Amino acid sequence: PYTMRLQRFLARSGVASRRGSEDLMTAGRVTVNGAVATELGTKVNPETDRVEVDGVPVTFNASATYIMLNKPDGFLTTMSDPQGRPCVASLVPVSDYPGLFPVGRLDKDTTGLLLFTTDGDIANQMLHPSGHVEKTYVAIVDGKLSDHELEPLRQGIVLDDGPCQPARCRLLGTSQARRIWGEEPAAATSCVEIIIREGRKNQVKRMLGAIHHPVLRLHRPRFGPLELSGLPVGSWRMLNEGEVGRLK
Ligand code: URA
Repeated sequence: PYTMRLQRFLARSGVASRRGSEDLMTAGRVTVNGAVATELGTKVNPETDRVEVDGVPVTFNASATYIMLNKPDGFLTTMSDPQGRPCVASLVPVSDYPGLFPVGRLDKDTTGLLLFTTDGDIANQMLHPSGHVEKTYVAIVDGKLSDHELEPLRQGIVLDDGPCQPARCRLLGTSQARRIWGEEPAAATSCVEIIIREGRKNQVKRMLGAIHHPVLRLHRPRFGPLELSGLPVGSWRMLNEGEVGRLK
C-alpha cells in the first residue's frame, strides 16, 4: 500500500510547512489512529490512517499543487543538473510535492515569476502555442532607447526563426527599475516593458538585440493572470484559490 512520511502528509494537507509539521509532531500534538506520533520517521497511509492535530482530524489533500517562485539570477530552470550547477528545484519544496515541475522556463540569468505545478493539463494550457497567455518582461537594455525604436517590435519584428507576433512595449522610468532590482540602472541604459504571448527561446533578448539594445538584465513580473507582487527574490508561495481559478 501507498505510504508517506507523516510530516509530508501534514504539509500536503496544508496544516503547516514540513518543518512546522515536524515541530507539531515533536511537540506531541499529532496522533495517528489515536496514538501520539513524535517519531519523524512515522509513515502513514493517507487512505486508511486517521491523523489528528490537537484532536482535529486532518483531511489529506491529494489535489494538484501550484507554486510560484521569484526565481533568482544564476539558477537553471531544471529539476536537476548533471554538472551540479544551481537549479530551481533546490528553491521549491519538491520533496513534499512529488511530480512538481516548472511551467516553461526562464534563462539562467533571468529573474522573476516561474510557476510550478503537478498539473500537466494546466502546464500544457499555459504553454500552448496558440499563445493566449501573456508574459510581461521588464528589461534593462544597453543604450538610450527612444519610444520610436520600439516600433518594429510593435509591428512584429522578424528573427532568425521567423516573425514575432506584435508585442506591446513601453519605456519605463527608473523608479520601476529600482523597485525590481533595488538600485538605479546605470547611466547609459534604459528600462523597457515588453508583453509577449509566444515563448520562443531567448525571445525577449533576441527581440531587443534586433533593435540594437542588448539586454543587460531581464525580469518577469507577470505570467498570464499571475503576478509576483511583493514576493521576495528566491521565495516561493502557494497560489491562492482565486489564482488557481484564474488559471483554468
Ligand atoms: N526571453 C528571454 O530572452 N529570456 C527569458 O528568460 C525569457 C524570455
